[in-house]
Amino acid sequence: MEQVTANVFTETRLRGCNPSYVVTTAGVVMIDTPQLPTKAVAMRKQAEGHGPIRFLINTEHHVDHIFGNYYFKGVGEVVQHQGVFDNFMVVFPDLDPFAYAAEAIPTDDPDGAAIFPDRDEYYADPNKGTAVFTGDLTLRLGGHTFHLLHTPGHTPGQVAVYVPEERLVFTGDTVFSECQTWLMSSNVNQWVGALDRVRDLDVDRVVPGHGPVTTLRYLDTQKAVLLEWVAAVAAAVAKGWSRAETMKRVSFADRYPVDIGQGYMMDHIQTLNAASLWDKFTNERATATASSSAAGGP
Ligand SMILES: [Zn+2]
Repeated sequence: MEQVTANVFTETRLRGCNPSYVVTTAGVVMIDTPQLPTKAVAMRKQAEGHGPIRFLINTEHHVDHIFGNYYFKGVGEVVQHQGVFDNFMVVFPDLDPFAYAAEAIPTDDPDGAAIFPDRDEYYADPNKGTAVFTGDLTLRLGGHTFHLLHTPGHTPGQVAVYVPEERLVFTGDTVFSECQTWLMSSNVNQWVGALDRVRDLDVDRVVPGHGPVTTLRYLDTQKAVLLEWVAAVAAAVAKGWSRAETMKRVSFADRYPVDIGQGYMMDHIQTLNAASLWDKFTNERATATASSSAAGGP
């Protein structure tokens, strides 16, 4: 693992998110968990070498941040925003998170097969949140403060974890550092607001959800990526391109690689990002037209 500051450790080179932990004088705080089973077990052992794990905080509900919770049963409180709790490993029509976790095993963690649960076994106790909050939350442990800032956008329950004593913030997927951004069902306007909120923090280091550790300067790049996607799809809609045509022609594949282990998802990311924005813009247009005619029109 990479030691980022005196008490902060992160792992940016695994398939999945950047699971991390902070060592305090009163125990350890985990931020997200490794998606791959053997990596989760190994990281737990390593973290517990510094003291008991008192809190496990999940920054969002996407599978790459929460599946590994299963291997952290019996630690202290599992702290989740209501939006993470409500969507925790929920199967949606376009994404089955359990199947996605299973799919990574043969290629990325063959030894993990032996400790990969079957679906019923998993859902019986996936180690979901035990301390659930709305808005922001501040935790104190030992000499450390953990400000959990609700920063929705990438997901509704997104949180950033600001640790002033380490002059560092964990942003989760509000920041994709030097790798492809997954928009999926994000709210881009909120996401830009989240970046602005994080930008105001007094920190030296930013631990992103994916990619290498970075600084506040990168937030401007992340904002530009979001706004470029929005502008490109808005222009496609303005030209009258269909959903299929937009998916085919709007792509930022040449901008960054996909984060480790998921290169095969490049086309999926590009088409899903384009389609989700196209749906949003054309829906907004339909809704605006409906409401303006309901109000009698201009
Ligand atoms: Zn992620």
